[in-house]
Amino acid sequence: MKLDDVKASGIEDRRGGAGRLPGGKAAKVGVPGVIIAVIIAIVSQAGGGGGGGTGDAVGQILGQLAQGGTSATASVPETQGNSLQGQEKFAGQMQTLLDGYWKPVLAASDEKFEAPTIVVFDGPTQTGGCGVGQPEAGPFYCPGDEKIYLDFAFYEQLEKQLGFDGDFAMAYVIAHEYGHHVQNLLGINEQVRKESDGASEADANALSVKLELQADCFAGVWAKSASDDGRLDAGDFDEAIDAAAAVGDDAIQGRGASRESFTHGSSAERQQWFKTGFDSADASQCDTFG
Ligand SMILES: [Zn+2]
Repeated sequence: MKLDDVKASGIEDRRGGAGRLPGGKAAKVGVPGVIIAVIIAIVSQAGGGGGGGTGDAVGQILGQLAQGGTSATASVPETQGNSLQGQEKFAGQMQTLLDGYWKPVLAASDEKFEAPTIVVFDGPTQTGGCGVGQPEAGPFYCPGDEKIYLDFAFYEQLEKQLGFDGDFAMAYVIAHEYGHHVQNLLGINEQVRKESDGASEADANALSVKLELQADCFAGVWAKSASDDGRLDAGDFDEAIDAAAAVGDDAIQGRGASRESFTHGSSAERQQWFKTGFDSADASQCDTFG
């Protein structure tokens, strides 16, 4: 991936003890084994439910999205950011590119835009509404504080165990988490949370799969803009596609796992929705709920 001209946005670095909680009794976030999750259940807002169902609501929301955003590079505050190194710098550069892509898309649709904050952490860390984030439980997005939590040790573990490879695999992961932030801005997370309330586990899992596949599609939409900007090296697209397969539920749980236990979608589905986003370059085509 070509990033030399991209300034890194500031990120929140909680590595090496900063912002760390004492180990031991931390509550676990999310479902064990869930990878690249969004934590939707814990944010407290009045329930309500009813209405025309999540599928209709999401379809309406997506219908309002502008097609094909421009990829203007966001202006970056000079503070922080530019002193970052290595993986943290990469995360900050990704934030710059993702902010630059999504801001005009949402603005053109009259949706408010607020950038998420990327937090890099390496020990148990407090979130704003999603409990205590644990390293090596996977990257996740917390709607309560609008932060993307990344643990690079986890990524290195994925490299070894699941065959993740290359910078664009990590770009896919960050773009996927950013996709959850976009869902949050659009109210889609909240729709799903309401619908999941009181639903059977199988139904709640099915909704989770739709949410996750949509985040994959949003990642693909962004990836196409990066490609159009000449940022992809040979092999980058395949790195993302391989990563999407590596985090499929069937890849993680084993081939015999039941469909009802899936929370993120199969390898094939995750690849397919990333491609749908990439090929269409249009977030309104990411209607996994339809
Ligand atoms: Zn996710």
